[in-house]
Amino acid sequence: MPDCQHHPPSYTGLQKTANHVGEKIVTMSKASMESLREKIVADNTTCGLEKPDLINAEMDGRQKLCKRAEYLRRCGVEVTCPNHTGICTANVAEDAAIGNEEAWATIVGEEIADTLSINYLTTDGDSKTHTVMKKSQPACKNLKDPRHLVKSVKRVFWKSTFSADLFQKF
Ligand SMILES: [Zn+2]
Repeated sequence: MPDCQHHPPSYTGLQKTANHVGEKIVTMSKASMESLREKIVADNTTCGLEKPDLINAEMDGRQKLCKRAEYLRRCGVEVTCPNHTGICTANVAEDAAIGNEEAWATIVGEEIADTLSINYLTTDGDSKTHTVMKKSQPACKNLKDPRHLVKSVKRVFWKSTFSADLFQKF
């Protein structure tokens, strides 16, 4: 940007611009994603795969709340992003579909169903995403992410109290 004699835009400036062209960005993004899906099928066909539309996928929905909201919550204030005092940097509203894995999986599953079929879907161990995904992707099978399981086991392990003579010396 500085090379083009432009000042780098601020986060709020970028957000305002994005809101102006939001609908066009959605249309362009959908077209771009569709061409990527078609490229996957074409590449799989070139590779000689028996079912070129069959893919393996991984899903994990996360929602990032803003620092201001986290601070206000710690102070006991009930807050809703982005409708609170000060600057809000949350990437989505708390009740937006992306924070709700099931709603997100429904949208994604239906969107890609015209081009791709999901064979294995890897999700967090506690995720219900797979159940919802099966509605639009009936052949989809679920794999649980071992990273998530290891993290949960570690958390429980560190909370545990061990007696000094639990591990015997030989
Ligand atoms: Zn916020």
